[in-house]
Amino acid sequence: VCLAVVRVGDDPASIVYVRNKKKACERIGIVSREVLLGAEISQEALEAELDQLAADEKVDGILLQLPLPKGLDEKKALAHIPAEKDADGFADENAGTLINGTKGTLPCTPRGIMALLSFYGVDPKGKHAVVVGRSAIVGKPAALMLLNADATVTICHSKTKDLAKWTREADILVAAVGRPGFITGDMVKPGAVVVDVGINRTPDGLRGDVDFEAVSEIASAITPVPGGVGKMTVCMLMQNVIDLKEQKAAAAVE
Ligand code: NDP
Repeated sequence: VCLAVVRVGDDPASIVYVRNKKKACERIGIVSREVLLGAEISQEALEAELDQLAADEKVDGILLQLPLPKGLDEKKALAHIPAEKDADGFADENAGTLINGTKGTLPCTPRGIMALLSFYGVDPKGKHAVVVGRSAIVGKPAALMLLNADATVTICHSKTKDLAKWTREADILVAAVGRPGFITGDMVKPGAVVVDVGINRTPDGLRGDVDFEAVSEIASAITPVPGGVGKMTVCMLMQNVIDLKEQKAAAAVE
């Protein structure tokens, strides 16, 4: 099994993420092929690199580490990763399967959230799940997965009025905002399950989007940062690559 990880430029967070993904591959025996490209690469050259990996029989999954340096178009670049090698589950085709509730590759972070809930016996069915954040890689797919698991879902974002009114309604609260300590104790219903997706670099180290100290007193369960959703994201990336390899093998037999 082989995962190609493409990193463009020297974004410090991306360097750490790619290193962690590489380590996870090594630990479970997935071959990781790192493709490092300079920040000054042109859109065409980046797309040509991705096309080459797409055509390479030895490569089972491709991951383009985001964000890309300024001047490069992420959407256009991602379109060069075919669905059958889309390790991150970001391809339009995979987003479509999520909406239709059919089988496809799920984005790693929301898949990790669902795996965590399942592992700890939190069934979203009939619960009110509130997702703060509507990005295409976390908030929206997380909301759809919770909906597909029969939760009643509310999606909040920067234009939501009276945010705390909604978050206080949540049986399951997912914070994917990108602001350290944004969800405070008074925004959480006693007994809620709180999933903190945020990874924010602060002078005090990595912090989530949730005020952990205050909210852990109120919630029935809460994920830590670091060590919670971030770890699950890497696990689900490994699972996605294995799934892609198995699908390729099954298609070869047919
Ligand atoms: P984005 O910046 O793409 O999205 C942030 C979302 O938060 C947007 O939808 C935005 O609303 C919303 N938002 C911003 N400010 C407010 C506000 N004041 N009130 C309500 N909503 C607000 O971030 P991502 O989704 O990519 O990431 C979110 C966080 O999760 C980051 O900290 C990131 O580092 C982390 N992350 C962690 C991963 C992991 O593995 N644990 C993986 C990916 C991300 P609007 O759409 O209106 O602008």
